[in-house]
Amino acid sequence: MPRSFMTHLECPKCSETYDPGQIQHLCRCGAPLLVRYDLERARRHVTPDDVARRAPTLWRYRELLPVQHDENEVSLGEGMTPIVPLSRLGARHGLPQLYLKDEGLLPTGTFKARGAAVGVSRAKELGIETLALPTNGNAGAAWAAYSARAGLRAVVVMPQLAPEITRKECDITGSDLYLVDGLITDAARLVGQAVGQADWYDVSTLKEPYRIEGKKTMGYEIAEQFGWEFPDVILYPTGGGVGLIGIKKALDELQQLGWVGQRRPRLVSVQAEGCAPIVRAWQDRQRVSDPWDAAYTVAFGINVPKALGDFLVLDALYQTEGCAVAVPDSEILAAQAELGRSEGLFVCPEGAATWAAAIRLAQSHWIRPTDKVLLLNTGAGLKYPETVAASAPTVPLDGPLPLAGRGTHH
Ligand SMILES: *Cc1c(COP(=O)(O)O)cnc(C)c1O
Ligand SMILES: [Zn+2]
Repeated sequence: MPRSFMTHLECPKCSETYDPGQIQHLCRCGAPLLVRYDLERARRHVTPDDVARRAPTLWRYRELLPVQHDENEVSLGEGMTPIVPLSRLGARHGLPQLYLKDEGLLPTGTFKARGAAVGVSRAKELGIETLALPTNGNAGAAWAAYSARAGLRAVVVMPQLAPEITRKECDITGSDLYLVDGLITDAARLVGQAVGQADWYDVSTLKEPYRIEGKKTMGYEIAEQFGWEFPDVILYPTGGGVGLIGIKKALDELQQLGWVGQRRPRLVSVQAEGCAPIVRAWQDRQRVSDPWDAAYTVAFGINVPKALGDFLVLDALYQTEGCAVAVPDSEILAAQAELGRSEGLFVCPEGAATWAAAIRLAQSHWIRPTDKVLLLNTGAGLKYPETVAASAPTVPLDGPLPLAGRGTHH
């Protein structure tokens, strides 16, 4: 039995197919390529019970992943992140079935590890020596780490304003790191020029087909962890949109496999008001988004003014009767603080944005009290120490400590 039931690559726009044994980037028509599997065969060879007996990493879904040989699997133990019930917070806001999937526990502290684990493994399998990518920080850190693990060279280009820790992560793992005084779109232009001249493998978001396969395992895990069922609403902080496209792809594959029923979760794309191209396109019922001018948000991972896969994100929202919501940075930071105080979670601002959006959607009754609601926390707050002021009085060495406390707990 093969390890992977991958059959071919397919363009979701014009349906052209490609050989996954060759290095492929975009379709001739310019759209990203998706990996397709022989799901009929997979269904006969593997069951949810088989999966349940395997180690708790994303590789437990190996038949539905593109890596073909065990020796190419590059792993740092990624996957099976916890789903935490938020009972206190949910009760306070009239959402008794509120949950958070905490991707902050993955290697490099964000869900970018999923895309990098599968993407780097596949790059290794295809004989790549040097890969290159533009990033808002977290993807660079993850791809640098997995490249080091695989023995590949990584060239990373990120905005100067990207979280400083991600620079250090790229440095300690030995990548070639460059900064630009601009946005991720500027970094992408420079990478695009360089890969045209050097023999580098371009792993920009959606420009190779395998990163999304890693990210789709979030969807597989969500279904498995809820007993092979999806919750009613999933809120996802959307930058390039790969995570959301991946969750939708997982849903489609799992339904074809017959591992989940036909009921679909409503997918919600959450963006910051300072950079909300998907929200604007969704409000105008567009099929694609227009580039956002002067993009800025504290939630740096979703500061993406124009995404290559925007049409796939919008399709996923329309097909699941989902929606798109923008929240201001002030509400993102307030949501981050509330999650910390009420549940002991230090989430990244991108993850906090999903809670801010859920509050709004509950107030407008788009989310109902009977809905099972899942927030995706895409990364650890530990990677964003600058989002918390943490002022505290210094007390004299001989005390006393104020016994009434400072009134900050909840
Ligand atoms: C990259 C990133 C996102 C956005 O993910 P996409 O799949 O590109 O939409 C969200 N949160 C964090 C922490 C990120 O690093
Ligand atoms: Zn095409």
